Amino acid sequence: MSVHTGNLVAARDVESLRSRIQAWRREGLSVALVPTMGALHKGHITLMERAQNMADRVVASIFVNPKQFAPSEDFDAYPRRETEDYEMLNAVGVHLLFAPDVAAMYPPGFATSVQVAGLTDILDGAHRAGHFNGVATVVSKLLLQALPDIALFGEKDYQQLVVIKRFVADLNIPVDIIGVPTVRDPDGLALSSRNAYLTPAEREIAPALNAALVKAAKAIAGGADIAAATKAAAAAILKAGFTSVDYVEARHADTLALLKNAQESGRILAAGHLGRARLIDNVPIPQK
Ligand code: AMP
Repeated sequence: MSVHTGNLVAARDVESLRSRIQAWRREGLSVALVPTMGALHKGHITLMERAQNMADRVVASIFVNPKQFAPSEDFDAYPRRETEDYEMLNAVGVHLLFAPDVAAMYPPGFATSVQVAGLTDILDGAHRAGHFNGVATVVSKLLLQALPDIALFGEKDYQQLVVIKRFVADLNIPVDIIGVPTVRDPDGLALSSRNAYLTPAEREIAPALNAALVKAAKAIAGGADIAAATKAAAAAILKAGFTSVDYVEARHADTLALLKNAQESGRILAAGHLGRARLIDNVPIPQK
């Protein structure tokens, strides 16, 4: 185990971010970027550790992006823990924290939006109007501000990962996008900053989301009807105590097209509401 004394530098504006990264580039060092919205947990830290294994220098960003929250959503309530986040990033040996404020990211007159047709109006996009435009816009900015060699994103937000890979390819942004498997609690619940909204009783119910998806994925791999398996998963999630289910769908892992048969590389994705929390999860369909 390596021990870090920690010497984390924080940049608040694009000029400071760029001058630090350019200095590393002049030394011939490679750079990884890990964008986050803060309220860091073990899932985020796993991304940082993976980044450290893949590049000489790791930049983490923390920015709660107002453009990816609809007016009815939890932008104001979203957990913000800057001091704890700084300590966690420092302890794991991240080299630079980029933490701009909203005015630095979206100065007066800001008018551009990155829109990815097709991928953003299905699944979560059908339930969160404008969400993926906000994500695509801010991630485009972060990639162009930092111009890292690689950027890492969690499979936990699987649709987000597919959307990002799409616009990075379409816009020829010269950054390799790396997906990192979902980090879970031992009972299967995917780690998420929004798990903080769960009451103790809801926390007991929450793993039912993952359990239902794992069961459906196994059933589909074993030859079960895709529509019947996803319908059964939605029913199981509701029976466990979720207030509502936005969707449970089997999709192609690369294109997010509706899955036609279990021989294709597939993924089951779902979202449901439990108390104040809207939880998402996804699992691969095992291949024979
Ligand atoms: P967020 O702060 O929620 O925007 O997440 C920042 C990054 O961490 C995104 O790429 C997420 O997909 C990733 N992430 C969040 N939770 C997890 C998790 N449980 N396992 C792996 N990656 C995660």
